[in-house]
Amino acid sequence: AGKGEIIQIHIGQAGVQIANACWELYCLEHGVIANGRLIQQPPDDSFLTFFECTSQQSCVQPRVVMIDTEPTVIDEIRTGAYKNLFHPDTLITGKDDSGSNFSRGYNLMASELLDRSMNAIRRVADRCRGLRGFLVYRAIGGGSGSGLGTRIMEKLVEDFGKKMTIVEFLVYPSPSISPVIVEPYNALLATHFSMDCADVSFIVDNEALYDICANTLNVPAPTYTNLNRIIGQVVAGFTASQRFGGQSSVSFQELQTNLVPYPRIHYPLINYAPLVPHSHAQFVNMSTAQLTGQCFQMSNQMVRCNPSHGKYMACVLLYRGDIATNEINLALENIKRTRSFRFVDWSPTGFKVGVSNMPPAYVPGGDLAPTNSACVAVSNNTNIRIAWCRLVNKFDKLYQRRAFVYHYVGEGLEEGNFAEASENICQLVHDYLEVDATAPNSRRGTDADDGGSTGSN
Ligand code: GDP
Repeated sequence: AGKGEIIQIHIGQAGVQIANACWELYCLEHGVIANGRLIQQPPDDSFLTFFECTSQQSCVQPRVVMIDTEPTVIDEIRTGAYKNLFHPDTLITGKDDSGSNFSRGYNLMASELLDRSMNAIRRVADRCRGLRGFLVYRAIGGGSGSGLGTRIMEKLVEDFGKKMTIVEFLVYPSPSISPVIVEPYNALLATHFSMDCADVSFIVDNEALYDICANTLNVPAPTYTNLNRIIGQVVAGFTASQRFGGQSSVSFQELQTNLVPYPRIHYPLINYAPLVPHSHAQFVNMSTAQLTGQCFQMSNQMVRCNPSHGKYMACVLLYRGDIATNEINLALENIKRTRSFRFVDWSPTGFKVGVSNMPPAYVPGGDLAPTNSACVAVSNNTNIRIAWCRLVNKFDKLYQRRAFVYHYVGEGLEEGNFAEASENICQLVHDYLEVDATAPNSRRGTDADDGGSTGSN
């Protein structure tokens, strides 16, 4: 493939269930039916970034590896509608639950599954001609995605070197959705141990998705399937220019170069538009300006925080479908003019723009109305620190009483790792604050009146 290949790695229950939503969409978009047969001629070979051709004529299979410590979630794929799409060697399962325990996933489960997982990944990698990177999907609040997932991240860096770009989608814990009390432990430990492995990590907050479903899409009691389908559309939009030819594409490496000014500051915000419920519209036909405007609303954000209380370091807009490129600049000028949209003073306030011709696929029975265009905005904004603050506070509340710590120490973690993890994430929050401070609020006096919103921590 001209663009080089990307291997997707889905780990743990959330990671694998998100795979269902993502691959359903990729298949729809590329005209691949459930048994892997291509029923429409691809316009060019860009689809080879995500799919490989098999020995059977007109058949493809995903460049993917799915991994879980216990079999039930992956068994649903093994017996489900797409059972013939995925090669059985790419579906890796153990026999035991990781018990929502980072330490168990990182130590015990990894001793059983790490080699098998890496062998599967290597087999897929060996069939690539110009492998460029990995897209990893996992939740950080459980045990498998967080613990085993972290071991896999470490090993990816060790085995494939820093030449590969590793991009992650991390499901962030949400107490109102998951009853597991130790999620802050798992999430912070996973973030601490894997911080240096990932080049770019997108946080997807289940609570934000839940709000989008309930408030915007008229789905009052969303299930994981509803949440995952939103993630699917976001990821599909994010990767469209990798999978299709386009007017201007943004490669993984460019994404990292543009978005990540310092290695640790690699947690961009992700926004998506249009979010219009199926019940409201037969078909969504927004102007490019409207689409761009909607994309920057807080209700279209995948993490709860307020970007207007922070500063932007960079922003990449990935458009797809029927886009009036001449309207983009004007729309962006409009957004920049709003006072709440502030860049740090060392950033040239540049927006990097990618446009792919292929519109989003419509998922029959889905919550989103069909549309002719979409936009994913990924931006590095200092206010994301709020998400980390929230987590550190919850972590500290548990850890002050040393609650449940023995479960982790019993599975091979050292107690010192807890304090280290907490310190590291506090430092991350400070790193963001420091970046925030590099653009004086009182710059030429113009921002002074809304400076108060930035100062609060
Ligand atoms: P693991 O298999 O041990 O990694 O555990 P999970 O993947 O179930 O991680 C637990 C976290 O993931 C909790 O915060 C859950 O709310 C969340 N979660 C579990 N399944 C899904 C899913 O299918 N989609 C989403 N968005 N979140 C999920």
